[in-house]
Amino acid sequence: AAPVALVSGMSSMSKNHIIVKSGTTLEKLAKAKTFAFDKTGTLTKNELVIDEIHPENGYTADEIQSLSASVEQQSSHIIATSLVKNTSAQNLLPVTNLKEKVGNGVSGTVAGKEVKVGKLTYVAANQQANTKNATTIYISIDGKYAGYISFKDQIRPETSATIASLRKQGAQSIMMLTGDHKAVAKKIAASADIDDVRSELLPAQKIAAVKEVSAENRPVVMTGDGVNDAPSLMAADVGIAMGAKGATAASESADAVIMVNDLSKVSDAVAISKHTMKVAH
Ligand code: ADP
Ligand code: MG
Repeated sequence: AAPVALVSGMSSMSKNHIIVKSGTTLEKLAKAKTFAFDKTGTLTKNELVIDEIHPENGYTADEIQSLSASVEQQSSHIIATSLVKNTSAQNLLPVTNLKEKVGNGVSGTVAGKEVKVGKLTYVAANQQANTKNATTIYISIDGKYAGYISFKDQIRPETSATIASLRKQGAQSIMMLTGDHKAVAKKIAASADIDDVRSELLPAQKIAAVKEVSAENRPVVMTGDGVNDAPSLMAADVGIAMGAKGATAASESADAVIMVNDLSKVSDAVAISKHTMKVAH
């Protein structure tokens, strides 16, 4: 397409709060056939609501909330930010030896205790826990299983219409790529028109899923919000970051950044791109 048309397309994107880093992104978006989405914070709201705090092995609900929220203070994961926001300041204690294992969880020393928070396999691999059909983090204290905290993960109000609009504009496949477990993924997918649901993925498996998309189903667009999504945004033909919360690892790795907390900007971006390409020819 003519450079002038691309520049004008990029300008109309920016008026719609979508920052596009290069003109070729518009060309690819106009032809995109597959749209992959991260689940937590992308298809769903970017704040989780605490559903249940379930302590075990003699700990109290307040103890596991305080210790887990404390180790989560530096993490940008939505689970972390939602938990910290819903914990009172006096229960947020200083942490040392902080480590984050992307796509798994965090660990650190809080009040002299070794605290680990995240997936059950990461926290206490040999523990049997009654898993809930909800987004859940598990907690261990000094190597001993201490319970779980589950969250309500709610689909965004605009998700369903966004996917319908993408389909109307020619999308052949809508994928969900999530590190969360199958039951949660299926529940969200059922309330939107998502045909390809992949759950319990590690960041490397999200990349593989994007790379596996066959030539006839490309270009593939991946939309995500978290650090764990950054590599798969780079692997896609077009990576779109939900960047409303500011400059993140995801927005640095993306070809386009949505500056508002609104998923429907993905289908708007396709519409603007298609219009730009039409004008250019
Ligand atoms: P999604 O793809 O749905 O955004 P992630 O791949 O980021 O999910 O994370 C998958 C799972 O790993 C989460 O559901 C959670 O159990 C665990 N996890 C990842 N990061 C954290 C963290 N900072 N704190 C607690 N748990 C985490
Ligand atoms: Mg996410």
